[in-house]
Amino acid sequence: MTTYIKPYDLEALINSLPGIEVIADSSQVAKLSQDYHTFSPVLVPKLAGKVGDIVLRPANEQEVLKIAATCVKSRVPITVRGAGTGNYGQCVPLHGGVILDMTRMQEICWIKPGVARVEAGVKLAALDKKAREIGWEMRMAPSTYRTATIAGFVAGGSGGIGSIQYGLLGDRGNLLALKVVTLEDEPRFIELRGDDVQKVNHAWGINGIITEVEIPLGPAYPWAEVIITFPEFMAAARFGQALADADGMIKKEIAVFASPIPQYFTPLRQYIPDSTHAALLLIAEPSLELLPGLVQQYGGNITYQKVQEGGKGVNLLEFTWNHTTLHARSVDSSITYLQSIFPVDLETRCLKRLYS
Ligand SMILES: Cc1cc2nc3c(=O)[nH]c(=O)nc-3n(C[C@H](O)[C@H](O)[C@H](O)COP(=O)(O)OP(=O)(O)OC[C@H]3O[C@@H](n4cnc5c(N)ncnc54)[C@H](O)[C@@H]3O)c2cc1C
Repeated sequence: MTTYIKPYDLEALINSLPGIEVIADSSQVAKLSQDYHTFSPVLVPKLAGKVGDIVLRPANEQEVLKIAATCVKSRVPITVRGAGTGNYGQCVPLHGGVILDMTRMQEICWIKPGVARVEAGVKLAALDKKAREIGWEMRMAPSTYRTATIAGFVAGGSGGIGSIQYGLLGDRGNLLALKVVTLEDEPRFIELRGDDVQKVNHAWGINGIITEVEIPLGPAYPWAEVIITFPEFMAAARFGQALADADGMIKKEIAVFASPIPQYFTPLRQYIPDSTHAALLLIAEPSLELLPGLVQQYGGNITYQKVQEGGKGVNLLEFTWNHTTLHARSVDSSITYLQSIFPVDLETRCLKRLYS
């Protein structure tokens, strides 16, 4: 079992890292010791009162290496942090120590057709915007893409908007390389490529500090946002499955909601009548022409459509994935969620069982 020297000399630790940004203000440190584990009634009592001692904000990979070496030497625990939007308490320090805030490392090293290399703290929305300048975009992103960092997504996330087309982040080919600082006695950089990336992918930052990520991109499309309502939930689910199976129709998101969940989406209420079930879609504009026929086949009704050109209005993506829970909890804070995955089930039998 690892032993930490505690209490360690905080002053000496800070003095041995000249030039590195430190946050020592206790309310700031407490804030940066939190994430969105508050969605979980199990984790809230378990993680209550857990805070780091200081926050360090490295500006580059050499500073990360220096911090790692100093903390290893003094046996001070490190909790790595991106934007802190993770849901499982992975950013909450169990044993105090250093919160390593990676958000200053925002450099986009390079982007070329189909692939980008970026520093750990780059926000997903920033990478997507830059990639679109050359006709490419992120293959997938969590619904927190506006604030979440790329390394936080790799270390703590799993998939999101775009997964309907490209699968999960852990699927072979969705992550090309990671540069990592180890926490060995003599910390060093290692570059993981190919299947080796899986050693650190979704490992919550506990076996290395990611400093750079090389990630494949997908061709950029103009995306339309659509809301469809259905009187029957299983018809909505079967519609979602049919659209997912229509390989020629390009889509980035298909989110199907059973009533009363869509009724928690206050800004969308005018498009989702009481007691109806809903599907929220992001579909490539060239595929839109085929949508009404498919919707009609399953008894649905298109109530909202926004095309990219001049498209003002609500951002439907921020109602999908765990943003669904966020909206539901803003109406009733006792609500939580369970994430499930089914085996291949083209007839939606598992879902029917779960629903009934
Ligand atoms: C409303 C809401 C919706 C969400 N939707 C989705 C979704 O659609 N899909 C999804 O996958 N997740 C989702 N999440 C979870 C989370 O937002 C994402 O996984 C996001 O990508 C995490 O990025 P972050 O920068 O906030 O990471 P953080 O929360 O800061 O960190 C996540 C994990 O990564 C580790 N970490 C961070 N940076 C590094 C680094 N440089 N090196 C090593 N480890 C590091 C942290 O220690 C932690 O274990 C959602 C969360 C919320 C609150």
